[in-house]
Amino acid sequence: MQPGHELTFHDGTCCKCGSSEDLIRFSEFGKALCPDCFPEFVRRRIEGTLRRFRMIPKGAHAAVAVSGGSDSGALLHALARTRARLNFSLSAVHIDMGLGEYSRRSLQVARQQCAGANVTLHDDAVARHGVQIAPLGRWPVCAVCGAVRRALLPRLARRIGADVLCMGHTLDDQLQFMMKNILSGHAISPAPVLPATSYAPAKVKPLIQVPDQATDTYVRLVGIPTVAEPCPRFVPDSHRFKDVFELLEQHAPMGKLQFWRVLRKVMRPADEGDDAGHLCSVCGEPTSMPVCTICRLRQAQQEDAQH
Ligand SMILES: [Zn+2]
Ligand SMILES: [Zn+2]
Repeated sequence: MQPGHELTFHDGTCCKCGSSEDLIRFSEFGKALCPDCFPEFVRRRIEGTLRRFRMIPKGAHAAVAVSGGSDSGALLHALARTRARLNFSLSAVHIDMGLGEYSRRSLQVARQQCAGANVTLHDDAVARHGVQIAPLGRWPVCAVCGAVRRALLPRLARRIGADVLCMGHTLDDQLQFMMKNILSGHAISPAPVLPATSYAPAKVKPLIQVPDQATDTYVRLVGIPTVAEPCPRFVPDSHRFKDVFELLEQHAPMGKLQFWRVLRKVMRPADEGDDAGHLCSVCGEPTSMPVCTICRLRQAQQEDAQH
C-alpha cells in the first residue's frame, strides 16, 4: 500500500468470516476480505451487476470475450460459476489479433482458461479477414485494434448463436472512457447494456463495478493462468487517465464508484446506433453500415500500401 493510503473503513477482520489473516483491502469495495472470502465477494458483486441491469435473460446463450488477460479471465471464471444459479448457458469467443508470439500465447492461455472453466472456446483471427493491426493515417494502433475487435467479436458471437456478448470492461475502463469523452466535450457515457440489433447480439459489461486490480487478485487467488507480458503494441500514454482515478481513490476511498454513479446520471448514454442494419456490400456480413468496418479497413490498408 502506498504512503497516505490509510483506509478508514476496516476493523482488521474479514467482513465475511472475521478472519484477520492476510487481509486484502480494496478501498473501492470499502471492505477488508480474507483470501478465502475474496473470490466469492467479487462473484457476488458481478452477480449483483448482472441482476441489477438485467444483463443476461433466463435461458439465454451468453458468450464471454476472452483475451487471455486477467479481466476477461476473471469474468469467464465468475460467469461459469454463476451460470447455473442465473440459468444461462455460456461459451467463450477469442480473436487472434495476429501480433506474433504475443497473440499465439494469448490464444493458448484463453484455451487453458476455458478448459479450466469447462466452457467451449470459439476463435477467429484477423489474418482470415485480410486486415492488419497497424497504425493507419491518424489512427494509432490501439484504435485500429479496438475497432477490429468491436467488429469481429459480435460477428463471431452471432455466428455461434449467442444472445449476449459479455465484455471484460472494468470500473476503471468505464471511468477512463467517460473522462476522455468529457475532455473532448462529449457528455456521453458507456451503457452497461447495449440492446441486441438485427446485426449484433446484446453487449453487456458485468465488471463495471469491479476495479482493474481486483481482477488480478481474483485470478491469482483462484489460480487462473493469464498472459503475463503486456501487449507489444501497448501505448501507456493512452491509459494515463487511469492514474487520475487512482489518485482520486487514494484521497477519497470509494471515490471511483461514487464518480461513476454520478457521471452515469449526468452523462447521456452512448447512441445505440441504427438498428435497421445492412449486409456489407463487400463481404455480405450483417453490419450497421453499407460497408462493414473490416472491409473499409482492408480497403484503406490496401490504398495506404500503394502510396
Ligand atoms: Zn473471510
Ligand atoms: Zn464487409
